[in-house]
Amino acid sequence: MPRKLAAGNWKMNGMKQDLETIQSLSETYGAATVDVMVCLPATLIAACRDSAIGIGAQDCHALEGGAHTGDLSAEMLADAGATAIITGHSERRADHGETDADICAKSKAAYRAGTMAIICIGETLAQREDGTTLQLIDIQLAGSVPDAASAANTVIAYEPVWAIGTGKVPTLAQIEEVHAHIRMRLTERFSDGAEFTLLYGGSVKAGNAAEIFGVPNVDGALVGGASLKAADFGPIIAALQAT
Ligand code: PEP
Repeated sequence: MPRKLAAGNWKMNGMKQDLETIQSLSETYGAATVDVMVCLPATLIAACRDSAIGIGAQDCHALEGGAHTGDLSAEMLADAGATAIITGHSERRADHGETDADICAKSKAAYRAGTMAIICIGETLAQREDGTTLQLIDIQLAGSVPDAASAANTVIAYEPVWAIGTGKVPTLAQIEEVHAHIRMRLTERFSDGAEFTLLYGGSVKAGNAAEIFGVPNVDGALVGGASLKAADFGPIIAALQAT
């Protein structure tokens, strides 16, 4: 069975004063029966390295070090305390022009540093409307997921771009179709494809988490806005534990 994971993505949010949220989540969910993680801005990772919940990063450079001003290597993030790195988030694909090849290289860097890669894929609204969602998913899976991926080092997050931060959520049938497709492709390609944790991401809230977690092949969620406060993220974790 895939491991269940509730992962938060704080994006470019979070100051020292917000560390009390990590403290609170650690106290309440540090011994949860599902994996709990928050992917923090790099500035906060070291301060949380001994948390009872997992601490992740949101991006890395593909190389181990060198003349790349402003960038952080996977090794540096692991050294600070990250045990996972998000790669290929749609905001990085859009804001920084990251390609599937870039994301594949960054995911390999995450493995090299001994961290897990949380690889994000998902269609735009135009792709959803013109019926090319599954084709796009195939392209992103083939291009972004390294051959060295395994259930132990990789989580796949299906995040429709049009659902991120918008309050719009696909129907349960749409989520089921895409997750079943991803599962099929992973089992075709990897001997342990049935064990990969598959997350849904896009406007997950306390009010819709339970029904989303009831969809086959949904093993958890990647949560943006609703992970910023323990009072919002907590019920999502609780809903995952209850499934
Ligand atoms: C995300 O940032 O990955 C995300 C899913 O954001 P939100 O939950 O705010 O839609």
